[in-house]
Amino acid sequence: MSDDHEQYTCPKCGYLNLWTRAEILQRGKEEIYRGDNEVVYSLRCKNPQGCDQRMRIAVKRREK
Ligand SMILES: [Zn+2]
Repeated sequence: MSDDHEQYTCPKCGYLNLWTRAEILQRGKEEIYRGDNEVVYSLRCKNPQGCDQRMRIAVKRREK
């Protein structure tokens, strides 16, 4: 993951999802903790047509 955003193509609908770190923290659902440094978020596809695919994205924890 780059420092401040993440992108992936949805495997279900092919929509290119672009997420900023702030969006991931706000809208993602925390699923898995990997030690003290990393959290895996479950993100719903952003396709405006509607898509229920979820992707898991690992995000590094950061001190505020
Ligand atoms: Zn999708």
